[in-house]
Amino acid sequence: MELQQKLEILADAAKYDASCASSGGERRDSRKGGIGSSGGSGICHAYTPDGRCISLLKILLTNHCVFDCHYCINRRSSNVQRARFTPDEVVRLTLDFYKRNFIEGLFLSSGIIQSPDYTMEQVVEVARVLRPGGTAFVIDNDATRSTFGGWFRQAMPSHDPVAVERFWARQGWSRDRIDMRWAFGSRADFEAVLRIEFSQTLVDGILADHQGTGVDYAVSLWWRTFA
Ligand code: SF4
Repeated sequence: MELQQKLEILADAAKYDASCASSGGERRDSRKGGIGSSGGSGICHAYTPDGRCISLLKILLTNHCVFDCHYCINRRSSNVQRARFTPDEVVRLTLDFYKRNFIEGLFLSSGIIQSPDYTMEQVVEVARVLRPGGTAFVIDNDATRSTFGGWFRQAMPSHDPVAVERFWARQGWSRDRIDMRWAFGSRADFEAVLRIEFSQTLVDGILADHQGTGVDYAVSLWWRTFA
């Protein structure tokens, strides 16, 4: 498959992760009135600590995935066209766009190929080549703590937190444990989001046991500085 075609598939597949300022924004054209323009996929924006808005190339390494999370367009059973970049292709694309002044950085995510360990090795290889001297961060569920962590373990019994920890330690990453919380304005909103995250049977059980409109949620912030 041509690199251009991979880029179209994997930029489109990445737009559903709405964690940056302009993810999935409706396309606007400043030449036809209005201010500024954005694409529905491919480029997203983020803010630096000093307040600058920077453009990021936003893609997936691959939209193949061995898991079948029912809320996700890239799940195993989804009937979408699949593609996969090599780490070298991601590095080349990023540097090409950077040199032409289209972007200032890369927002890279991925479906899971073979295993979470193998997938992270591929992502880490991109980070290693792109950012000597930089620090990479990964936020991951901490299934060993918090009420949400318990639900996560029920939803994904094959998840092995000890193996995850071993993997990161082997690669020289450090961890900060972070406690956060999901909080919603109503029980109906809380239930709606739970039904996106988990199977209907699991959510029925959770709602029968768990009162209120929120839940405590533990995550791990993994980080490593590359020499
Ligand atoms: S593991 Fe990630 S990419 Fe794969 S189906 Fe679940 S949410 Fe989607």
